[in-house]
Amino acid sequence: MTLLKGKVAIITGATRGIGKGIAKKFAQEGADIAFTYVSSGSAAQEVERELAAYGVKAKGYQSNAGDLKSTEELVDQVLADFGNVDIVINNAGITKDGLLMRMTEDNWDDVMNINLKSVFNMTKAVLRTFLKNKNGVIINMSSVVGVQGNAGQSNYSASKAGIIGFTKSVAQELGSRNIRSNAIAPGFIATEMTEKLDEKVVEGWLQDIPLKRAGTPEDVANVALFLASDLGAYVNGQVISVCGGMMT
Ligand code: NAD
Repeated sequence: MTLLKGKVAIITGATRGIGKGIAKKFAQEGADIAFTYVSSGSAAQEVERELAAYGVKAKGYQSNAGDLKSTEELVDQVLADFGNVDIVINNAGITKDGLLMRMTEDNWDDVMNINLKSVFNMTKAVLRTFLKNKNGVIINMSSVVGVQGNAGQSNYSASKAGIIGFTKSVAQELGSRNIRSNAIAPGFIATEMTEKLDEKVVEGWLQDIPLKRAGTPEDVANVALFLASDLGAYVNGQVISVCGGMMT
């Protein structure tokens, strides 16, 4: 399939989980992939190999999504290596959960920087290219807890709610330039991030999810593909939940 043939996508945090799932799906659809990682160079090389097997160009870059200067340097390097950028997926994210009573300032700042400021950083860094191209797709990874809130995740929920406000504002500001900005709100997706959750909490969630299963990175990647490709050409400023009906 070739829904993204000739497109260049930047995906942040793609050596595992949802980011890796999106990278594989996009590569299968013909996109060249530039992705970021934080520390594991060997995992990044393995992902490069997996993606290249689909016959596309793929390269991993060590880059901290929470840092504007690093992100600007990353985009410059991707432009030098790939010649263009058409799609950005702001996927990188962390949790530092805890009840507010015990949450430290660092827990708050780290989550805000990596989850929310990262989205500002990347959007700023690609903006000139997208405006020049009169074309661009931005997909931001929010969460159902960004819409609903969640006890013990006030920092994370606030960062994911902030992403929604940013996404909608950018959609209104840049829609006239043919730049689309949408958010995905995953529910409970089985990845390394959710592996560390308490078993009892997970059991409770599975009971509450109408589809009675956790989502997979591929479930999220399919929606990202819809938004990134021309299938989603008239979808702008939306938050699409991928949660098995958890948030209804
Ligand atoms: P994950 O922990 O498996 O993957 C997150 C990725 O982000 C990792 O590759 C990590 O290295 C990268 N990352 C972390 N800090 C970074 C930084 N400073 N710069 C660049 N990359 C960085 O998590 P996941 O479950 O795959 O989550 C992906 C995204 O989806 C996150 O934004 C997460 O908040 C969101 N999300 C996940 C779920 C879920 O149930 N798994 C639900 C809702 C939203």
